[in-house]
Amino acid sequence: MPKKKVVVIGSGFAGLSAATNLAHKGYQVTLLEKNAQFGGRARVMESQGFRFDMGPSWYWMPDVFEAYFAQFGKKVSDYYHLHRLDPGYTVFFGKDDVMTVPAQMPEIEQMFEYYEPGSAKKLRSFMTQAGEKYQIGMRDLVYKPNRSVLEYASVSLLRNMLKMDVFQSMRSHVYAHFKEPRLRKLMEFPVLFLGATPQNTPALYSLMNYADLSLGTWYPMGGMGEIVKAFVALAEEKGVELIPNADYSLLSVRVLMPHVFIRRKRPTTPMSWLLRAITTTSSKRFCPPRIDSTALLTGKTEPWHLRVFCFILD
Ligand SMILES: Cc1cc2nc3c(=O)[nH]c(=O)nc-3n(C[C@H](O)[C@H](O)[C@H](O)COP(=O)(O)OP(=O)(O)OC[C@H]3O[C@@H](n4cnc5c(N)ncnc54)[C@H](O)[C@@H]3O)c2cc1C
Repeated sequence: MPKKKVVVIGSGFAGLSAATNLAHKGYQVTLLEKNAQFGGRARVMESQGFRFDMGPSWYWMPDVFEAYFAQFGKKVSDYYHLHRLDPGYTVFFGKDDVMTVPAQMPEIEQMFEYYEPGSAKKLRSFMTQAGEKYQIGMRDLVYKPNRSVLEYASVSLLRNMLKMDVFQSMRSHVYAHFKEPRLRKLMEFPVLFLGATPQNTPALYSLMNYADLSLGTWYPMGGMGEIVKAFVALAEEKGVELIPNADYSLLSVRVLMPHVFIRRKRPTTPMSWLLRAITTTSSKRFCPPRIDSTALLTGKTEPWHLRVFCFILD
């Protein structure tokens, strides 16, 4: 049987991993990237012999990258070399007010004691909770596809949710533990990665402090572009066809998506048969010949808006 064809739009980490997963599952995958370079926000700029990472610079949660490559029987070290930074990073509160955050917990505790006597003990209790949240969060929440609330209907998860501090804000959780303003800022800052504020973020996300202080800050030797190279190499190994300089959002949204859902759901009324005929013709007309328009999908196989469209037309 010929392979089903899928087109993924965008070559950020999301697009690259979706394409690779689909290819691994047996689809024939084409990935379209509007820019000349792959990697999305993690792309690299090179000029006059210098190389600049254009986006991410913090490599946290190395276990997530390891788990990604492990799905395909690979390891991070097959593609790039990771180095744990020590100190992890430096925070500049002002010109002469600098906090250097070490990699190891005993030294981090000493640093906390320096800023606020007695705070090392509080840090230990904070981090024990944060570690539990991280384990539960990664095991029971993060990898769920989020297609239905029923995914979360398990007694153990509901029991664990009580430990997860979802009804307290990150701010009150941090403030209850630490008084020194710079320590409070240090403990609140990882929330910025969620694009959120500590006041509006549940204390569940102290799991980010665990990712920060316990799991550490890492650096892929050669820069963040090495991760993109690794994702691209793995995608190619799986047979994904990667096409740069290809901007197809107009086709996917206006023309091809209706066609996809009509193909996926059998038309039942004269109107839906008519729409199917129109969209089939128009998508064939607008679609580049190398892409089989009947198989065009976005990164996820069944986004909710496709289902809404099905409902309206059928
Ligand atoms: C300045 C900055 C610093 C950051 N720092 C960190 C950090 O330290 N640590 C961390 O973990 N994260 C960091 N992030 C976040 C991280 O970079 C992003 O979460 C991640 O790269 C997003 O990947 P993505 O695949 O979801 O989206 P993107 O990387 O945005 O990928 C989307 C891709 O789709 C392409 N595309 C869009 N429309 C079309 C179209 N119509 N046709 C074809 N292609 C299209 C785009 O060109 C792009 O390549 C940072 C981000 C920025 C911008």
